Amino acid sequence: MSDQNQYLKSSKLIATHYGEEYEHYYNAIVPPVFMNSLNVFESLDDYYDFDRRDKHKYCYGRVQNPTVRILEDKIGALEHGVGALAYASGMAAATAAVLTVCRTGSHVICVRNAYGPLKSFLSGYAKEHMDITVTYVDGDCPEEFEENITDRTDLIILESPSSVVFSLQDIRSVSELAKKVNAKVYIDNTYCTPIYQQPLDLGADIVMHTTSKYIGGHSDVIGGMLAVKDEELFKKLLENRELFGGIVGPMEAWLMIRGLRTMEVRVARHQETAMAVAEFLEGHPKVRKVNYPGLPSHPQYELMKRQQQGNTGLLSFEIDGSAKEAEEVASRLSIFKIGVSWGGFESLVFLPHARTGEDECKKLRGSQNIIRIHCGLEGTEDLIADLESALAY
Ligand SMILES: *Cc1c(COP(=O)(O)O)cnc(C)c1O
Repeated sequence: MSDQNQYLKSSKLIATHYGEEYEHYYNAIVPPVFMNSLNVFESLDDYYDFDRRDKHKYCYGRVQNPTVRILEDKIGALEHGVGALAYASGMAAATAAVLTVCRTGSHVICVRNAYGPLKSFLSGYAKEHMDITVTYVDGDCPEEFEENITDRTDLIILESPSSVVFSLQDIRSVSELAKKVNAKVYIDNTYCTPIYQQPLDLGADIVMHTTSKYIGGHSDVIGGMLAVKDEELFKKLLENRELFGGIVGPMEAWLMIRGLRTMEVRVARHQETAMAVAEFLEGHPKVRKVNYPGLPSHPQYELMKRQQQGNTGLLSFEIDGSAKEAEEVASRLSIFKIGVSWGGFESLVFLPHARTGEDECKKLRGSQNIIRIHCGLEGTEDLIADLESALAY
């Protein structure tokens, strides 16, 4: 058997080779899609003694699958955790984490700039069906979390950087605080990918990724992951996934494994382009504000340098003009297509607050005219030229 530990030396080796046991697939350099729902056993004893953590034994596709397991081993290793679990979407992963950590009457502290559907789940379903209460905070300073902790606080939800206004939270300080009161820290790490931020090392308990973004990387797959550092929590999540039934399919897992192999080079290029675009926008007379954590003008630039090793391709800016003018800028772009997602090869533009009320915009700290763009892989010069012509009015 190959020595898997040799691949743990760097994230590049993990993304390319780790978790793959070539001798089990006739030395094919690309593991197959195990497109099976069932694995059979030699004997009943064999079935009843089977350990769900055993990498070489499988029983049923809702529980585990060998292709899914390769993906999980890679993400678990990239995040420096005891393991990771793959789900059918980012939201399936996020809700599984909340439903596993929280109980009836739990209190949750969540950053206001967290992913919208997760906030809807907390304030809607979780409140209605489980009496869960939520306090939303800006999250800029750890004191804000401390002030809002109650004796029922079980979960703190972070997203750093957030994906519209790119605000950061101090992961280490919030995690130290949470530990004292026995609350778990969950963080959406989709923006940074495991290449540029490893929150478990900073004290977080659960790292969430939607693999629909950079991990898939080609806008052809939906999936989610949770990585954890505690074996007990891992076991609970594994049990619950079997009960909730939200495991990702093997074909999707295979596409994510393929995406992972090139993720490091892709995000480096996304970052290089986004940085050039951010600098171009910052110098443009029609642009009032650029939100990109890689810019030294970002208010949390120092914190960014402490906890991240890089930034990726998503950023936002506000033009010196009305929301209507911002919509016109978006519609004049041609390489940047109008769309909500990001993390693929393609450049995108979206106005996340175009239909949001002024009061809510203030709370979210991004005005109605905020334009979010994803800098894809079409080439920096052409993307800047596209923006330049859309802003020439
Ligand atoms: C897209 C997204 C999600 C949700 O992921 P799905 O795979 O679409 O369920 C969660 N968090 C962030 C930051 C996202 O951009």
